[in-house]
Parts: sequence; C-alpha cells; structure tokens
Amino acid sequence: MGYKDQQLYLNEPYAKAIFEAGGLPILLPIGVESDIEQLLTLVDGVLLTGGYDIHPFYYQEEPYPGLGEVVPERDVLEITLTKKTIEKRKPFLGLCRGHQVLNVALGGTLYQDLSGQFDREGLLQHSQKAARGVATHSVEIVAGSVLEEIMGATRIAVNSFHHQAVKKVASSLRVVASSSDGVVEALVHEKSAFCVSVQWHPEEQAVKGDLAAKKLFEAFVNACRKKM
Ligand code: MN
Repeated sequence: MGYKDQQLYLNEPYAKAIFEAGGLPILLPIGVESDIEQLLTLVDGVLLTGGYDIHPFYYQEEPYPGLGEVVPERDVLEITLTKKTIEKRKPFLGLCRGHQVLNVALGGTLYQDLSGQFDREGLLQHSQKAARGVATHSVEIVAGSVLEEIMGATRIAVNSFHHQAVKKVASSLRVVASSSDGVVEALVHEKSAFCVSVQWHPEEQAVKGDLAAKKLFEAFVNACRKKM
C-alpha cells in the first residue's frame, strides 16, 4: 500500500476488484518486513500495488535525472515480501510498481525513465493523461501463455500510468505481453502455481466492468482459494 507524509493509503479499486472476484483483501502496513514469515501464514496470496519508483540501488544503478520519488520503506518491505512469496510458492499478483518490484526482487533491472533512456523508435505514451479506467494502448499477449489462458485474448487494450519499465528481465521470469514499442507489459514466474505481473492497472478497469481485467482478479482469487 501507499505511504506518504506519515499516511498509509490504498486506492479503493484494488480492494474492490478483489472483493468482486470473491476474495477478502487484508492490507499490510509498511515496517513489517521482519515478520513476513508469520504474516504469510495468515494470507492465501499477495498482491503488490502501484506506487512510486523503486530505488535504483536495488538493481545496482545510480539515480538518473529522470528518476521519480523513491520510498525506501516500501522497497524493503515489498522486495522481502516478494522473495518470500515466491519462495513459498504462494499466489502472487504484481500490478504496475508491483510488476517492477517482482522483476527487481528476482534480479532484473528497470529503465529509470522511459522517455530519457528507452532508445527504440516509436515509444508510446505510457503516462496517460486520460482518466484511470480508460484504456489508451494495446498489449500483445503471447499465444499459449498463462496470461492468454487467463484473459482469453492475445490482444487487449489497457491503461498506462508508468514512466519506468522492465529493462533486463530476471532469469526466472518470462515476458508474456508487450506493447508495440517493445515495452515489457506482463511477466510470469513459471515455477509458481500463480505468479503474474502486469505493467498496467487492471483494478481500475475491473471495477468499470472490463471483462479481461475481471478475469485476472478471478484467476488470482481462485489460485488463493486452493491454499497453496
Ligand atoms: Mn504501458
């Protein structure tokens, strides 16, 4: 969950999308990283939400001028939580920043700022100006992948609120969706029963009734029900 000015907060669509998929959301505050083992016995799965940039120290880089705000308290909690969740093979869903945390926690790197560092032509607008539930760019889903199976399509329209992106993909992860400019939009960890991350915000689409987004939450909650 978010942390700023000594306040912990969560955008409501995350909790609502989990409720609507049949799950029961429990919020974990920052500062509990030394008790992760105990906390993981209380939950059936872990969802990492969106938020500020990850400190580049976590992937052995110095800060570039385009790096945004970093919140070290969230980094340490979420990186620890991700590693433990994967280790215990519990269901994991990473959204936006959560998608980037998954990659960094498992040894991957990020573009600190797409517009300054991504040198391929045709870079799309990934920091959209449209409202949060509006889809603004397409993603191509790898045919035959877990994500295609979940969403039932190989091309979907998504919203986009990120200026960073996955650069080097962690060796245990596989890219299962990209946008037309080559930005990595979704990853899976194939050794987990359910470990999916997406660069967009399906929670905002799901609460507006988007069927593909709702299917992602239903798949996560169903995996959690199996009590791995
Ligand atoms: Mn995007």
